[in-house]
Amino acid sequence: MSTIAFIGLGNMGSPMAKNLISAGFNVQVFDINTKAAKKMEPFGAMVAASLEEAVKGADTVISMLPAGVHVRAVYLGDHHGGVGLLNLVSKDTFLIDSSTIDPDSARLIANEAANKGLEFVDAPVSGGVAGAEAATLTFIVGGTEPNFHKAQAVLQYVGKHIFHAGKAGDGQMAKLCNNLMLGILMSGTCEALSLGIDNGLDPKVLSDIMLQSSGRNWALEIYNPCPGVMEKVPASKEYHPGFMGKLMLKDLGLGMEAAIQSQSAIPMGTLARNLYAFHNANGNEELDFSSLFQFYRHQAK
Ligand code: NAD
Repeated sequence: MSTIAFIGLGNMGSPMAKNLISAGFNVQVFDINTKAAKKMEPFGAMVAASLEEAVKGADTVISMLPAGVHVRAVYLGDHHGGVGLLNLVSKDTFLIDSSTIDPDSARLIANEAANKGLEFVDAPVSGGVAGAEAATLTFIVGGTEPNFHKAQAVLQYVGKHIFHAGKAGDGQMAKLCNNLMLGILMSGTCEALSLGIDNGLDPKVLSDIMLQSSGRNWALEIYNPCPGVMEKVPASKEYHPGFMGKLMLKDLGLGMEAAIQSQSAIPMGTLARNLYAFHNANGNEELDFSSLFQFYRHQAK
C-alpha cells in the first residue's frame, strides 16, 4: 500500500489522517506541535521528528495547515533556515494542500513545484470536523485535469464529494466564496435566533420553524450556534472543538483581498468579517466560529 506523509495534525488533519490509516495507507505524520503528532501513534501512524523524515519515501503528501504563511514555509522553506518540502521529496511524489489559503500562494507553490518537475494541487475542504471524522468532506480541487484525477484517487478515502474547480488556485478561490457565504449566513443565523430569544421565543422551537421555512440554511441544519438546541455541535460543547473564529476571520479576510483584486463589492462579507474581528478581539479567537452567537447575546438587553 502506498505511503502518505500528512503534515498538520490539528482539528481537521488528525481525523483525516486516521481515516487514511483505516483505509490501509502507511501514514507518516509531522506537526511542529509534537503533542498533536504523538496523538496519532496509537492509531498506527509513524510519527516523524522532522518534515524531512515525514516525506521520506512518501508517494503522496497531504498538508492541512492554518494559513498561507504556514503552507509557504512548509513547501518553500522559511527565513529561519527551514528547508521546504519541494527540496525534500523525490521526483514522483504527488503534493496536495488541503489548507484554506490565498489563491496567489497556491499558484506560487504550483509554479515552484512545476519548475522542479513536481505535481501539486490545491484541494481545500468543506464539511468541518464532523465531515473529517466521517470521511464525508467536500474537496475543491484546483489543478490540471490529470492531477485532479490523481488527487481523487487518494481523497476519495477522506471525502464524499470531490470537485474540480479549475486551474491552480481555483480550488482556493471557490473555497473563499463558500466561506464568505458561510460567515454571512452564520452571522444571520445568530442574529435571527438572538432576536427571537429577546422577544420571548424558545430557540429550539424557532430553529424548527426556520428549518421548515425560507430561512433554512446549513448553520441551522447542521451547526446550530445556540447552546442546547442541537446535540454534538460545538455550541453544546462550550464551542470546542471545531472551526476556530480566527480561521473564519482569516477566510473572510482572504475574501476581501480577492474582492480588492477584482474590484468586487462584498458589503455583507465585509460586515461579517468585522463582526468576527470584534468577537475575536474579546478573547474568543480559539472558540468555534459559531460562538459569534455569544457576541449577539452580550449585546442583548
Ligand atoms: P488547526 O490550527 O487545528 O491545525 C493546524 C495544525 O497545523 C496545528 O496542529 C499546527 O501545529 C500545525 N502546523 C502549523 N504550522 C506547521 C508547520 N510549519 N509544520 C507542521 N505543522 C504545522 O487548524 P484546523 O482547524 O485543522 O484547520 C486547518 C485548515 O483547514 C485551515 O486552513 C482551515 O481554515 C481549514 N478548514 C478548517 C475547518 C474546520 O472546521 N476546522 C473546516 C474547513 C477548512
